[in-house]
Amino acid sequence: MIGRFAPSPTGPLHFGSLLAAIASYCEAKSQGGLWLVRMEDIDKPREMLGAADQILRTLESFGFEWDGEVVYQSQRSKIYEDALTQLQTKSLIYHCDCSRKEIAVSYNQRPAQFGVDGLVYPGTCRHKTVVKNPHSSRIIVNGEAIAFTDAIQGKLEQNLVRDLGDFVLKRSDGLYAYQLAVVVDDFEQGITHIVRGADLLDSTPRQIYLQQLLGYLTPQYAHIPVASNVGGEKLSKQTLAPAIDATQASSLLTEALNFLGQQPPKNLSEHAPCDILEWAKQHWNISKILGQRSIVF
Ligand code: GLU
Repeated sequence: MIGRFAPSPTGPLHFGSLLAAIASYCEAKSQGGLWLVRMEDIDKPREMLGAADQILRTLESFGFEWDGEVVYQSQRSKIYEDALTQLQTKSLIYHCDCSRKEIAVSYNQRPAQFGVDGLVYPGTCRHKTVVKNPHSSRIIVNGEAIAFTDAIQGKLEQNLVRDLGDFVLKRSDGLYAYQLAVVVDDFEQGITHIVRGADLLDSTPRQIYLQQLLGYLTPQYAHIPVASNVGGEKLSKQTLAPAIDATQASSLLTEALNFLGQQPPKNLSEHAPCDILEWAKQHWNISKILGQRSIVF
């Protein structure tokens, strides 16, 4: 069993990322598995200078110990390129020079169709022989339902044609898209259990589709509810969630366990972070986590 925590260094760790860290850690460690850390620093323009190191130091001060070396996506372009080539040889990739505006306009008189990630891409460039530069690379999807059972959220099904359209694997700025990088990395690192925030639930069918095309096994998925504010916004760097403070590690870890339904004893927060994680590992019960996409925090 191999789990992982895969933060994007777009800012310091906040309570939402602590939830993903602790849940993925406990799920792996409670079953004697490995827990890897992968720095998802593929989107250089969104990266905050120094955040990657800061995240690792914060994890350490919260008592987390990862197995093996930290993997950095920014150093792995070659393997993403190989995967893209593999899909290209199956004639599943085409170039696209549509801007967001052009996608909206391409609906013409028809009512625009919204899916799980904004406008469904109507396939405008699929049959073009010439596209302008810069262009992205999209993968052709099919209309077969993709279903999976999430260990927390239950059964989910998507139809990529209806819910998304052909999606981008390489962006027009030359960067590989999260959807491709995450699938390749999870496979290359032998990840068997993915525990992460439910904001990524709707990305999972895309990832399963890519796994099927690339001949990878599909790992088990468990999506924890995200912490949101009363307005329903996810705690994130975008909503300016505060960085977690290492001097409050014990109480934040205990709060995170409460949020995840683990019912820690009242005095647990008086203990050192590593002892709290030890308790969490020993008492971990994933079925106590509410099967909701978000919980107000
Ligand atoms: N890097 C993503 C994030 O920080 C997580 C990706 C994943 O767990 O698949 O939201």
